[in-house]
Amino acid sequence: MQKKRIVLLGATGSIGKSTIEVVKKHSDKFQIVLASAHNNYKNLLKLADELKISKLAITNKKLAQKISSDRKIFYGEKNLLKALKNLDYDILLNAVSGSAGLKYTVAGLQSKHDIALANKESLVMAGKIIMKLASKNSCKLIPVDSEHSAIMQCLIGNSISSQVRKIVLTASGGPFQNWDLANFDKITLADTLKHPTWKMGSKITIDSATMANKGLEVIEAHHLFDLKFEQIEVVIHQQSIIHSMVEFIDGSILSQMSYPDMKIPIQFALSYPDRIATTGKFTDISKLPNLTFRKVNYKKFPLLKLAYQVGKTGGIMPTIFNSANEAAVSLFMKKRIKFTDIGKIVEKSLARENVTNPDLETIFAVDQKVKKEILSAYSN
Ligand code: NDP
Ligand code: MG
Repeated sequence: MQKKRIVLLGATGSIGKSTIEVVKKHSDKFQIVLASAHNNYKNLLKLADELKISKLAITNKKLAQKISSDRKIFYGEKNLLKALKNLDYDILLNAVSGSAGLKYTVAGLQSKHDIALANKESLVMAGKIIMKLASKNSCKLIPVDSEHSAIMQCLIGNSISSQVRKIVLTASGGPFQNWDLANFDKITLADTLKHPTWKMGSKITIDSATMANKGLEVIEAHHLFDLKFEQIEVVIHQQSIIHSMVEFIDGSILSQMSYPDMKIPIQFALSYPDRIATTGKFTDISKLPNLTFRKVNYKKFPLLKLAYQVGKTGGIMPTIFNSANEAAVSLFMKKRIKFTDIGKIVEKSLARENVTNPDLETIFAVDQKVKKEILSAYSN
């Protein structure tokens, strides 16, 4: 069997590294033909030697002067986008973090390639455009996000439009589920980065703690599965064993479960529609902790409520939500603002006029504008 040729963007991040592990364990099935990093070029060059990756991209073009290598390296996002146009490959795994990932999802779809999508921001910012492009070019869009992978797996053989009543996205809820709201003002960066069940990049770990991540996932699910926001429910499930559920019109609920390990949805996305044997741990059901489910406390996690609102409003609002959150999280990481300021900054940013059906150019421009405004307000 021919190996599946993978373009891995964001190879040096948390999802990128888990993808590398999957590819290494199944080197008879997968081959990375191009890998990208933004800053971490040392790690990328090491990976290229180890996995014999012939083409590399370093999207921070300022690094071009600093690096001396005999390898073919594309510097800067423009050169990477150009290279993607002329490359022969089977699937693009987009594990770039944040709004920077959108252009690569678009590029992959424009050149008629299947996408394994970790970069949920692509769908939050431009869900309508992306879904239309995927359908027009007959490309598969396979989610890597564990909740959406779970939903996709539960839907196999079922009709979304005629058989599904609702979906339930599970949320670990992050480290502050059991904290009193009165203490939220005292939350530190170190408290926030201690995720109880998942090991992830710092941006998404902070988003899990504010539950903005679940908000982005609600919007992601709305586009991916063409469901109304009223059909998308979030429940707190602190053990992160059930990765999401689908309730059908006959009252049956299907769920997908396993230990929390991103290698499972990554491997599913890369092998789909096939399934291949895992080399990881199988879930020992009898040793699992008790599985619990409870409602979200929106007073503690206002960003999730805001995400539902911007999702329903649509247009440019989800982009503003995402961009403001990215800017606020970067300020929180630099300890310039408090944990509770993240929600306040995002809410304030949303007091703008909407643009219905924005094109990509507008989406990129608004993303830059919103971030610039927030960052410059806190520059001294
Ligand atoms: P990380 O921060 O760990 O990694 C981000 C990757 O993107 C790195 O390779 C980084 O390069 C690269 N990158 C950063 N900025 C840019 C840019 N401007 N242009 C191009 N590349 C860039 O993130 P995660 O792996 O945690 O997350 C990646 C995506 O996957 C996000 O959209 C996230 O929401 C999603 N996701 C992550 C999950 C997880 O478990 N981590 C779970 C589900 C979804 P470098 O390191 O070289 O600077
Ligand atoms: Mg997720």
